[in-house]
Amino acid sequence: MEKILDKFKEFCMQPYDRAVEWKDAEPNRKVIGCIPMYFPEEILHAAGVLPVTLYGSDEPITMGEHHLMNNACHQVRSTFDSLLKGKYDFLDGVAALHVCDQVRFFLEVWQLDHPFPFFHEMWRPYRLDNTNRPFLTSELKRLISHLESFTGTEITIEAIRNSIGIYNESRYMMRKLNDIRRERPGIISASDMVCTVTSSMLIPREEHNQLLRELLSRIDNVLTPEDQRFKMVIIGHLCDAPDEGLLNLIENEGLSLIDDDFITGGRYYAVDVNPDGDPIESFADYYMNMIPCTTYHYVDCWRGDSDKYSPYADYTIDMLKKGQAAGIVILRAMYCDPFDMEFVLLRERLKEENIPFLALFIEKGSGSMEAVRTRVQAFVETL
Ligand code: SF4
Repeated sequence: MEKILDKFKEFCMQPYDRAVEWKDAEPNRKVIGCIPMYFPEEILHAAGVLPVTLYGSDEPITMGEHHLMNNACHQVRSTFDSLLKGKYDFLDGVAALHVCDQVRFFLEVWQLDHPFPFFHEMWRPYRLDNTNRPFLTSELKRLISHLESFTGTEITIEAIRNSIGIYNESRYMMRKLNDIRRERPGIISASDMVCTVTSSMLIPREEHNQLLRELLSRIDNVLTPEDQRFKMVIIGHLCDAPDEGLLNLIENEGLSLIDDDFITGGRYYAVDVNPDGDPIESFADYYMNMIPCTTYHYVDCWRGDSDKYSPYADYTIDMLKKGQAAGIVILRAMYCDPFDMEFVLLRERLKEENIPFLALFIEKGSGSMEAVRTRVQAFVETL
């Protein structure tokens, strides 16, 4: 098991090496970088393209600062920094779903500064209800036809269904691994769980599925000492991959992180795409039925009597109850407005329900880990 986890870690440390190797193995292979979150990778896969998610890097941001506002979130600045440093030169294209205004604006700068042969921005209605479904399906069709003209290959319904099957299997195995972690957290650390999920977005999915199958078959039934620590749910950090050192610090201070809603975690594998029927409708259902996200606009929020309505808070509290966790750690990425807005409602709900929580403001690559450690230690004492 350790060997496979080490492999996942290696993929995360050298995030694009396998993609470059895959591309060079045969002529005309194409790799498209996806900006987090929620881009339908299955459709890229069905077109024969390798989708690779771009999480920026942990390096200090030295070039991106000059092109974007300082109050852009780390994910956006770091991704642009990586672009300017040439780390994405191997890509044939870039694809993104507009999850927030920052993504939208930085893509405009990207397209003007560094145009790629394929550049696709997909709109997702912020308010997801049936009135917007036709727009969503038209966006999915536009993506398919853009990809077909870029690759020169027809994307058949069978090919999309096949890709959905491969990605569903991947999500199923990650859910299974997380179920085991929820019961016996010592079996896998939070940072290893993040690496397991993140690496799936960096290498051919079939290869990752094979490794995941092996990993699941090697998990033994022994209780580990970590199984006895305080169980915690960890949430937030929207599009960015959370810092491995931070997750380890939290767990080393006596907390077991048993579940999360990271895009490099539970949010990514929570919902499947229906492999049967019309794939366009299946993807529309997928977006409509996704777990609550702070980048969505819920019509009942912030309105008179219902101004405390927060599907995201409900989801978080359900996750806590399901895992019988003692509390919640909330990672607030600096300058992430969609999360900060929702945090106000979430904090009120947690206080009302007397749920212990620790909210940490995080700016990857800056700030003192020792200050964080002190806060985590103080929180553990209160439990
Ligand atoms: S982390 Fe927040 S602000 Fe940054 S791209 Fe994601 S949703 Fe937008």
